[in-house]
Amino acid sequence: VFRALVTDRNASGEIVSSVRSVEDAELPAGNVLVAVEWAGFNYKDGLALTGKGNIVRAYPHVAGVDFAGRVIESRNYRYHTGQAVILTGWRVGETRWGGFAERARVDAEWLVPLPRRLSSRTAMMLGTAGLTAMLAINRLKEDGVTPNRGDILVTGASGGVGSLAVMLLARLGYRVVAVTGRPEQSEHLARLGASEIIDRRELLEPSGKGLDGERWAAAIDPVGGPLLTEVLKKIRYGGAVASIGLAGGAKFDGSVLPFILRNVTLFGIDSVMQPYEARVAAWERMASLFVPAAYEPMVSEARLEDLPAEAESILAGGVAGRVIVNPKPA
Ligand code: NAP
Repeated sequence: VFRALVTDRNASGEIVSSVRSVEDAELPAGNVLVAVEWAGFNYKDGLALTGKGNIVRAYPHVAGVDFAGRVIESRNYRYHTGQAVILTGWRVGETRWGGFAERARVDAEWLVPLPRRLSSRTAMMLGTAGLTAMLAINRLKEDGVTPNRGDILVTGASGGVGSLAVMLLARLGYRVVAVTGRPEQSEHLARLGASEIIDRRELLEPSGKGLDGERWAAAIDPVGGPLLTEVLKKIRYGGAVASIGLAGGAKFDGSVLPFILRNVTLFGIDSVMQPYEARVAAWERMASLFVPAAYEPMVSEARLEDLPAEAESILAGGVAGRVIVNPKPA
């Protein structure tokens, strides 16, 4: 018997979550049983716990899209008892039970070994947010965006993906310009490596034109919506934008002018269905770049009981940095 945050429909049809005891027999099928040591808390977990975004289809459900822990039992050649592992994505925590519990049963294909330089705690400081930021940075590089090409804009910079993108880019020698709606986070962002901070409201002011003055070589954008519209107009000739998320909205208006007159590329990054080799490579690269002590001021710890309130907060744009979840009782 172990503790889990179980999300279910109540008698009035509302989605509610509470901590209760769960037996191994209730866990979904899978060939690896993992003792969860730390889980991450993401925007998508906010959606799952509040029943928004239609990402959970069956109840009762255990949310939690990323976790790190140790193998308790394995029927797969790649993993043995006691081995440290990480899971992100593969719809775990959405259509499958996830990491907001002391135990999770999953398919071996969804796991990656924990890199030697990380602990389960520092791995969850990164989590899905870090992995996605790293994948976006790798893709920018493949597209020819090297540090000498110019500044890189990061939107939603005080959020999970944004703050980790700032740190990883700075560690790779890029000059980073951070956009935030929370000027009070500026000092933190500067410490992570942002050279310049822009107020989100300033950038959201519609220019009314199809193109504006060229400012940044590339952008990493977890925000989407009207902010993406304005960012695209200001990307320098030959630059690129990595669209990662929708914290500011899923829809955006735009014109083709940045693409056809400035050779700008807009590409998407999905971390959920990334193949094993790409994940392992991205985790190893992150492990060598990440400085946990420098990121620690952006980390807050939560228990399973705290997560319904954290869900409301992250959807309202109120979470800064990364929330990591200890599934053990307080
Ligand atoms: P998060 O920690 O809440 O970060 C989002 C940030 O966006 C906020 O901290 C805030 O930053 C900014 N923001 C919030 N509401 C906004 C609004 N209305 N307008 C403009 N900016 C707003 O969430 P996260 O976990 O980093 O995830 C960010 C997004 O990426 C989510 O949409 C998530 O689903 C997506 N995501 C996608 C993938 C993928 O595989 N593609 C993986 C992970 C996450 P400031 O206060 O600094 O402005």
